[in-house]
Parts: sequence; C-alpha cells; structure tokens
Amino acid sequence: MKQADKPLKLFDTWRRDIVDFESIEKDKVGLYACGPTVYDFAHIGNLRTYLFVDVLRRVLEFNGYQVNHVMNVTDVGHLVSDDDSGEDKMEKGSRLQNKSAWEIALLFEEKFFEDMASLNIHKPKLICRATDHIIEQIEFIQNLETKGFTYSTSDGIYFDTSKLDAHGFDYGQLARLNVDGLQAGSRVDFAEKKHITDFALWKFSGDESRQMEWESPWGKGFPGWHIECSAMAEKYLGELFDIHLGGEDHISVHHSNEIAQSQARHGTRMANYWMHGYFLQIDKEKVAKSGKSIVLSQLVEKGYDPIAYRYLVLTSHYRSRLNFTWGSLDAASNALNRLRKTMSFWPDGGTVNKFYLNQFIERINKDLNMPQALALLWSVLQSDIKDGDKKATLLEFDKIFGFKLDNKISAETTIPADIMDLAELRQQARAKGDWAGSDRLRLEIQKSGFTIEDGKEG
Ligand code: AMP
Ligand code: ZN
Repeated sequence: MKQADKPLKLFDTWRRDIVDFESIEKDKVGLYACGPTVYDFAHIGNLRTYLFVDVLRRVLEFNGYQVNHVMNVTDVGHLVSDDDSGEDKMEKGSRLQNKSAWEIALLFEEKFFEDMASLNIHKPKLICRATDHIIEQIEFIQNLETKGFTYSTSDGIYFDTSKLDAHGFDYGQLARLNVDGLQAGSRVDFAEKKHITDFALWKFSGDESRQMEWESPWGKGFPGWHIECSAMAEKYLGELFDIHLGGEDHISVHHSNEIAQSQARHGTRMANYWMHGYFLQIDKEKVAKSGKSIVLSQLVEKGYDPIAYRYLVLTSHYRSRLNFTWGSLDAASNALNRLRKTMSFWPDGGTVNKFYLNQFIERINKDLNMPQALALLWSVLQSDIKDGDKKATLLEFDKIFGFKLDNKISAETTIPADIMDLAELRQQARAKGDWAGSDRLRLEIQKSGFTIEDGKEG
C-alpha cells in the first residue's frame, strides 16, 4: 500500500544522500542486482548482500510496487584481480576442484539458490547467465567501438575511460574518484592500458588453454566481467531503469565501469538509484572466499536455523559493516526461538494494529531501518494489545522480515520441553490402551495452546 505521509526514502550512492524514491513507471520498479560469481560456495558475506536485496524488494512490494527483479549469474569473465589480470575465477575453480568450468558453474549456481531458499530470500523474477548472453555482449562492445570508446592491446579490447569527458561524463562520479590524481600517482604498471581506470571489454584467449571461449570480431576469447551486467540489464530492463544493487566493493570498479559503458552507449547512468550493502566482517576483516570465510552449511551443521542468520543480519543497518561472531548468532537464534515460542501460544483471527503498523511503515521506509523495525516488533510483543492482534500485526511485519513466523513447522521445532513430556506420556498411555488417560493428557496439552494430532504412523 502506498503511504503518502510516509514516502519511501532510500540512500542513493550516486548522490550520497537519502532521497525520496520515485519510480520511472507508476507502481512499477525495474531492479537489477549483481549476482554471484559461481566458482565456489557463496559465503555468508555474499548472502548478507542478497538479504539486503531481498529486504529492499519486500519493502518496495509492501509499498505497492510491482518489482521486476533481475539478477545475473557470473559464470565467466570475473578475473581474480580487479585490474584485468590473472586467472578467470571459473577456470581457477575448475583447476582446483577437478571439474570442468561448466560443471563448476552449474554446481555452485544450484548451491547458491539452495542457500537463498534456506534464508527465505525471494528468487529474482528473471535470472540470466553471462554465458547465455555472449551475442548481446559482443553487440554492445561493437556499438562502443563504433562510437570510438574502445582500443585494442595485445591481450584484449579495452574501454577508454578518458573519452567520457568529451561527452560531459565524469568516470569518477559514483566512487568520488579523483581520476587525474589516480593516474598521476600511480606507481603500478598497468601494462598496455592507456589509463589506470580503463578496463577490458573482451579478452583474447591467447596462448591460455581455456574451457570457456567464443569467436568474436576481434578474435577468440571471452567477455570482461563488467560488460555482462550492462548488456543483460539493458536487454531485460532497458536503457535506464530504477535501482541497481550490489555490495560496497562494487562502487569503485564494477559499477563505475557498468555506468561508463551505459553512458557511452545510451548517455544514461543506467539506473536512477544506486544502492550498496556494506560488508560482513569476521574479526574486523571482510569475509572473502579467498580469506576468512564461513558458508551457510557450516551454520546448519552446528545446528543453527538459517533464519537465525537472517535475523542477525537484520539487527544491523545495511549501510553499516557487521562483524560476525558466533555469540551474536547465538543471541539472534535465542531471540528468534523466543519469538516463535511466544507466538505459538497466540490465537489466530486477530486484526492488525494500525498504530504499530504505521510506525513500522515509517521505519522500513526510512532507508530500510530494520534494526528499528525489529525493536518495534519486540515492543508489540510486550504491549498490552490482545494476543490475537499481536499475532496478526507481527505476521504483517513478517512480510518484510521473512522469519517465516506463520510457519507451523518452525513453531513445532520450538515446542517447550514440558509439552513434549506430556505428548510422550500420552503416547505411553495409548500404547497401554489407557484411553481415558490419553484423553486427559490431550486436554492438558490443548490448554497450553498446542493441538496434538495422530498421524497414520502414530
Ligand atoms: P561475488 O560472488 O564475489 O561476485 O559477490 C557477490 C556479491 O557479494 C556482490 O554483490 C559483492 O559485492 C558481495 N560481497 C562480497 N563480499 C562481501 C562481504 N564480505 N559482505 C557482504 N557482501 C559481500
Ligand atoms: Zn554487475
């Protein structure tokens, strides 16, 4: 529902400001989120970024927008170094895991979506793989070539960032980079690149033996990482769409390059709002696949419900870094269990409390202030409104939180021990044919707000 008095405000990295959100098309939002590079399991830092994307999407939908959510899967072209050198992560993954690059891509794409489902993250409306869009990428590069934005070196076709100036664009705008200062102060050798900020559009296979390579007007090779997003976002969302998302590390290179490509081709900055999720850290260091890393299955192996991780992520604002500790996950897990247990005693059929709902909308619409929204959830829980109304209100909030509070199974997993004891006693009574005792125990269980049902297997 649209709230005229509580407009949705979002932080736009481009403007470095919290601004009112206005969509290009009434009631519709085109949203592109940079997807995972599928050479390994996603770590819980990556997943924090997709939780941020999920919350934003839910908030947009709560505000009455129909969200066309597009996400790519990077299955080629992302090199181990941001400066266009080094191995392709997919080929590296293949070498280390003794599977073909194609098998690696499919395997970790599947694992990624399993993690997304465990965290109750809505699947994007459209998922597109870089390797399925080679023609679109070649066509995009040809267009840039025609417009005079490219040059070739011995290892590929590059984007000449200095050409943007003449068209009134500043390459450094998104990242607030001082491009001239960078160039002058650079001590590193940037090989045959003309400027430190130039980047590869197409890389030649050269002498490298590659599994993923394609013919192109410039020779056999593969697309650079940045062109895939510009080409696919344009194909599915057009020359200018509403929101583009990613992690904070994308600001200075990947997103700056996507913008440069779109400015060169279409004269637009690609999206009206650029939003970035901040890093998850461990011991104050960023979580990285090549460094300190924890994956979701490790949490599950230790007995945590993945939704407890979702809860933990929502305790901090997406624009602040979050330091992961097992203690903080324990606290999140306990809070979630307490919440589910309390709610399991409440009756259905209540009505959503308008006062709390209004406050909730105000908080989520203030640049997704989830820590404040969570605080409100606990205020509702402790308030003196009727239990049924509390339940209806929290279930309404859960459209954003995504804690599966309406899920009977998750409530069952937190059945108190004394109820389980009564159920066990009743089972024993039934086994002995003590039907009166069994019925008495059933009533006792019911008084505590639980229903016991006998399945085919007992
Ligand atoms: P990748 O699979 O490396 O392409 O990254 C997928 C997404 O995770 C991107 O949006 C990154 O910006 C984001 N990301 C990478 N590391 C972290 C981290 N430590 N915390 C939060 N997001 C991250
Ligand atoms: Zn991207």
